[in-house]
Amino acid sequence: MNDTNNGIVEDNYSNIGALEPEEDTVTTTSSNVNSYTCNDCKCVFSSNLAANKCIMCNSTNLSNNEVNLSTAKFIPFFRTMDNAISEYKYKVKNIMVSRAFKGKKVINNIKKVYLPAYLLDANVKGQVRFFGADKIGKDETRKYELVYDSNFDFNNVLVNGYSKIDDDLFNGICTYQYDKAVPFTEDLLNDTYSISYDLVPLEVSNKVNNRVMRHCLNEIRSNIPHSLKKLHKNDMDVQIKDNNKIYVPVYLVNVKHNNKDHIFLMNGQTGNSYMKVELSGIAIAIFSIVLFAVVFGCAFLFAYFL
Ligand SMILES: [Zn+2]
Repeated sequence: MNDTNNGIVEDNYSNIGALEPEEDTVTTTSSNVNSYTCNDCKCVFSSNLAANKCIMCNSTNLSNNEVNLSTAKFIPFFRTMDNAISEYKYKVKNIMVSRAFKGKKVINNIKKVYLPAYLLDANVKGQVRFFGADKIGKDETRKYELVYDSNFDFNNVLVNGYSKIDDDLFNGICTYQYDKAVPFTEDLLNDTYSISYDLVPLEVSNKVNNRVMRHCLNEIRSNIPHSLKKLHKNDMDVQIKDNNKIYVPVYLVNVKHNNKDHIFLMNGQTGNSYMKVELSGIAIAIFSIVLFAVVFGCAFLFAYFL
């Protein structure tokens, strides 16, 4: 038995795995695909549409670019733009939501977009130590040191490959049927955009490590049969075994409000969606006044008649 006064030891990862180099920006002979770089937010995107605005920040400061998508795999869209518009309207229908999120201009700005992602398998293996403890009396605690030799396999871990989309947002709605993936053809980009990868390999492997390691530690922690549990030492290693690039379908619109980005994202296959809206200051003020009047009125009537 050991004392548990030590703080939680930081997760110690190594063997972050080899990843392929980033997608090359090369000259291609493809005819209908146009590619652009936004000189403001650095987004690189491609489409069969001619674009005069950035799909992420609406900047008109674009340069032509050429992106090779010929070896990429894509999961096609299953949900329609009408599905996305209905979902978006539902998300912002609350009367308290700021008007900046409503109206035709925002609706018309919803885009069909393929986001860049990595689909990979990973293994997490090694020893991890926890401290466990149970209270057995008013002032008495029984403590344990617990050692686990772990070996976890993960298949089809999808990792966001674009830095401007928050990972929690991406992980929350982006699960797909990966067997539906098809090789690139230009038809996929009809009325549709694809955003290029913008992470360096180390950033990707760090994301994978954090994600699978967190899952393993949660799994181990949930099986510890003591009321108190604390990570003591983590010698587990993450190995990335197979790593493929895949573009996944979403409907996307970025509403800029109060100098902040508010991204609506809907999974183009399952329809799962997310949007964090901002409430209108005026609506909050009116609601507060009405609420105050109702409470004050009730209190007055109560005092008057009783
Ligand atoms: Zn931009």
